[in-house]
Amino acid sequence: MPSRPAEKTVPSATRSGYISAMAKLYFNYSTMNAGKSTVLLQASHNYRENNMDTYLLTAAIDDRAGQGRIASRIGIGAEADMFVSDDDLFARVVARLAQGPLAAIFVDEAQFLSPKQVWQLARVVDDLRVPVLCYGLRVDFQGNLFPGSATLLALADEMREVRTICHCGKKATMVIRQDETGRTITEGEQVQIGGNETYVSLCRRHWREATGDNPDV
Ligand SMILES: [Zn+2]
Repeated sequence: MPSRPAEKTVPSATRSGYISAMAKLYFNYSTMNAGKSTVLLQASHNYRENNMDTYLLTAAIDDRAGQGRIASRIGIGAEADMFVSDDDLFARVVARLAQGPLAAIFVDEAQFLSPKQVWQLARVVDDLRVPVLCYGLRVDFQGNLFPGSATLLALADEMREVRTICHCGKKATMVIRQDETGRTITEGEQVQIGGNETYVSLCRRHWREATGDNPDV
């Protein structure tokens, strides 16, 4: 009995310029120093190695958008456009697509996206059919979701955890902010720019210990 040819879904060519049957919005989340930028750069490199172009975005550390760079702690990096919170990222992607096709869009520091920008990226996926891969922190040093991450957790089609470990060997899911003397800071703005503080990733038990159980949060 002749076998039926396998049914093929024939995706339509889209505005992305590549044939993309199922673009998705991805949220790859982690705590600090888990190597998420390294994972992002490797994934982007895999596309480019196959002659597929990618568009890289990262948060501006101040109010000026422009040319930036995504760098990883292991020494690799790539040029990236920067965004500030009132940029229309859907319009940015449309403008970028006018210059040539894109296989995927990568967003680093995605915790700094505004909720509105996450919706714009969801429209990029749904209406322009370009996959968008966001990489960012889940919670801040006080254990609260970043607004961008909260919206990504709500809207993402797929989520993956980029894992790292606490000094005790358990998975680290939390982060503490320390001052220059190594003392844990439990109060302050969610985003601190230009300070001397450092961040340490811990499991929840050691985070509670370091923050004095943070009973007021
Ligand atoms: Zn621990």
